[in-house]
Amino acid sequence: MKPSQSPPAVGRLAPSPTGGLHLGHARTFLIAWLAARSGGGRVILRIEDLDAARVRDEARDAALVDLRWLGLDWDEGPYVQSDRRAVYDDALDRLKAAERIYPCTCTRADIERAASAPHPEDEGPTYPGACAHRLAADARAFGDRPFAWRFRVEPGPVAWDDQFLGRRELDPTRLGGDFVIARNTLGPSYQLAVVVDDALMGVSQVVRGADLVPSTPRQILLYRALGWTPPRFGHVPLVVGPDGRRLAKRDGSIKLSTLREQGVDPQRLIGALARSCGWTSTLTPSYPADWINRYDPDSLPGDPWFMNPAEWLVDPS
Ligand code: GLU
Repeated sequence: MKPSQSPPAVGRLAPSPTGGLHLGHARTFLIAWLAARSGGGRVILRIEDLDAARVRDEARDAALVDLRWLGLDWDEGPYVQSDRRAVYDDALDRLKAAERIYPCTCTRADIERAASAPHPEDEGPTYPGACAHRLAADARAFGDRPFAWRFRVEPGPVAWDDQFLGRRELDPTRLGGDFVIARNTLGPSYQLAVVVDDALMGVSQVVRGADLVPSTPRQILLYRALGWTPPRFGHVPLVVGPDGRRLAKRDGSIKLSTLREQGVDPQRLIGALARSCGWTSTLTPSYPADWINRYDPDSLPGDPWFMNPAEWLVDPS
């Protein structure tokens, strides 16, 4: 175990049950789990199922099966976001009272995108601020008309010290500007729910895929607006296929459920993932717990991992 001045971290695994977990998730979750466990910390499991249009019921249980297959465990949870509406509503009420959010009646397409964690292809154009003159109380006049709550983004860069990427600085006004945190008909967005959950669950360390980097400055603004201290963030460089394209759930061949059904040995996969993180140069079939003492965030390559199953899927011996 590494010597540490600070209290043991509380980390979390936060899968969205919108399709099967794939190799990119496996690598990020292994790193998130080790980042917590290596300092004697705890791991929370949270199912992020607020995007009703994309969530598939069977994917909730499948995510747990995938994690267990990998050998990853958790100390608390699973918490399920769709059961936690009341805590998101409380935070929303506080933001309304402070006039940090305003009701926006702009396009439906804009608003609908907000329930999912925004991966790069979902990032929309900058919100032009057409509804920014409104006060929170103006929403009362809308009746049943659909509208979104937008967070007022203060101009200027937001910086954080990323566990894997180093110091990062991004200006949320250049990342879409005022962003949606809830919709009156559909409830809270990813951005609000993830901040409220991480804060109330005592998460001190958020380790997730680098595709969520653009969300981090927005979430830091939400932490500040709600009077909470942001966790330490760490964004894991993405996994790409041999063709250099980002892995996506649509690429069925790299889904963990497919690998499991094909009889792939999860210990070989863990060995390959550990090697891809720079903790060893050989492929040693292993369990996640075997890496607790050898976990080293500094050896994680900053570039995407070119994942080639042929290199590790089959034991050549
Ligand atoms: N549930 C999100 C996803 O699967 C991850 C959110 C997060 O780690 O902040 O994309």
